[in-house]
Amino acid sequence: MENSSSMRKPIIVGNWKMYKTPKESLAFLDAFLPLVAGHERDEIALFPTISSLGYVLDALAGSNVRAGAQNMHWLDEGPYTGETSPTMLMSIGCKHVLLGHSEQRLYFNESYDRVNLKLKAAINHGITPVVCVGELLAERQDGKTEEVLRDQLRTAMNNITASEAAHLVIAYEPIWAIGTGSTATPEIAAEAHAIIRHQLAECCTPTLAENTRILYGGSVKPENISSLMQQDGIDGALVGGASLAAANFAAIVKYA
Ligand code: PEP
Repeated sequence: MENSSSMRKPIIVGNWKMYKTPKESLAFLDAFLPLVAGHERDEIALFPTISSLGYVLDALAGSNVRAGAQNMHWLDEGPYTGETSPTMLMSIGCKHVLLGHSEQRLYFNESYDRVNLKLKAAINHGITPVVCVGELLAERQDGKTEEVLRDQLRTAMNNITASEAAHLVIAYEPIWAIGTGSTATPEIAAEAHAIIRHQLAECCTPTLAENTRILYGGSVKPENISSLMQQDGIDGALVGGASLAAANFAAIVKYA
């Protein structure tokens, strides 16, 4: 995922959550890769489970699709059962990582202080981070969306310079839209993206904010991707459930 200073190339990312064995992952690729062969308009990336990641990376060699991990620890090694380190990801050719996904925040107590440590580790290892932010329904209903997004970014980006953040990707994922079938309207998503871009300018620089790709995630489907992508500040999508079937995800990648 390369950032261009003059233009933000869209990225469509599939998050497979805790689905698909290695065999199922490879069967997906057999069906999916021919459907997106030669597709250059958007970058495409898949985030399988850690048990499938090595197989998926090998199968994607030479293709136009990238793959990354759904999480990682910030240290290179240590007594941290169940964790995977940045060096371990690098050793299997993994150069992308999802950080701070709301399911990690909600079910495993992930905090933005830890996201900050992980983000610094990703930057130090040359791993492209996709950092998720997003508010709860109650926070939106209380009129706190802007405050929540700004706080999340401020903490995640603490002590990170614009040059360090050059390859950063942000995903705006309103928690009320994830896996619920109720997508944010393109206008709501665009408004949140503008808040995020403004905060990136404050945390780092206006140039970084202008160059950073901000993805929308939350019940993206073939039926709603086009209207989301028509919004100026929306630079791609992070797709969960609808990325699990090859034809569905290919239809999203090839939005009109
Ligand atoms: C996600 O997992 O990041 C996500 C947005 O899920 P879904 O598309 O299923 O809402």
